[in-house]
Amino acid sequence: MTIIAGPCSIESRQQLAEAVATLTADSRVAMVRGGVWKPRTRPGGFEGIGLPALQWVAELKAERPFAFCCEVALPEHVEMCLRHGVDAVWIGARTTANPFAMSELAQALRGTALPVMVKNAPSPDVRLWAGAIERCQAATTGVVSAILRGFDIYNNLGYRNAPLWDVALELRRLMPSLPLLCDPSHITGRRDAIAATAQTALDLGLDGLMVEVHPHPADALTDADQQLTPHQFIAVLDGLVERRSDSQKADSALADCRAQIDAIDQQLLQLLQRRMDIARDIATVKRQLDLPLYQPQRWQTLLDHHRAAAQAIGLDPDFATRLFNLIHSESLRTQQEL
Ligand code: PEP
Ligand code: MN
Repeated sequence: MTIIAGPCSIESRQQLAEAVATLTADSRVAMVRGGVWKPRTRPGGFEGIGLPALQWVAELKAERPFAFCCEVALPEHVEMCLRHGVDAVWIGARTTANPFAMSELAQALRGTALPVMVKNAPSPDVRLWAGAIERCQAATTGVVSAILRGFDIYNNLGYRNAPLWDVALELRRLMPSLPLLCDPSHITGRRDAIAATAQTALDLGLDGLMVEVHPHPADALTDADQQLTPHQFIAVLDGLVERRSDSQKADSALADCRAQIDAIDQQLLQLLQRRMDIARDIATVKRQLDLPLYQPQRWQTLLDHHRAAAQAIGLDPDFATRLFNLIHSESLRTQQEL
């Protein structure tokens, strides 16, 4: 498990020195993070220290070496990071969303060995995320990895940025060997929710965490609500249960359950195929009677029934709604094809 931790923004030499001293004292922390240039949604906020912050990093490293990473959004940021011995960079959510900006950054990374971490874009589009990653992979010889920082969706489910774990798991399916980290700080936006989200990430097999830690979060110039004190951060790390990756032992222990799941999946597919056959018969009758294919009342009755039936046998009714919405839209699509 890779742990990256540090302040949202570098604010002063003193703040950085304090953060580095406490974080590097814990051998679980592989790298210190610190924002040097801050992308702000609205003008007038603290936009980062810029170049002097990189000079402080270099001075502190000369006293006692540690690995450091920061966000880059412009080609000149990459150049300044390279000049100041920054060990890795990340691409922020707003930059990942912009293919023009990504191409320019890739150009600046070309021929370097700088490791790059690519955060997901604010919108849940896995191809946009994968595209930004591919641009970096084609440019640097360093390790490219991804960071799930959550998505800015209409109903963000009580998070600052909804995690939408499925999008991260889809990226994993598309790019199975890509290291995938989680940023529980920007997902939750709240100190007290970080431990649970970090644990979910590990339970889903993500490879590490980037966590915002500030020596005095109450005084932080950015993201004050989500930064942990070093003490709180260590408590979060101590409480995490690391899951082991799929070993041969797990394979044999799970073989029986997996065989049952495989058989059930096969039955589900066969039942769905029969259901679609019947939907085609229904479409024929509807055409003969000149009825519209979509029957809203019948569909509402079915959904209400399925939700109640799911609840009665201990299944989540929202899951039943999602499942049957998918089945119904495929049924309508099949009927349209006739
Ligand atoms: C950050 O890590 O401080 C940051 C700005 O992240 P994001 O791009 O995920 O908003
Ligand atoms: Mn932040």
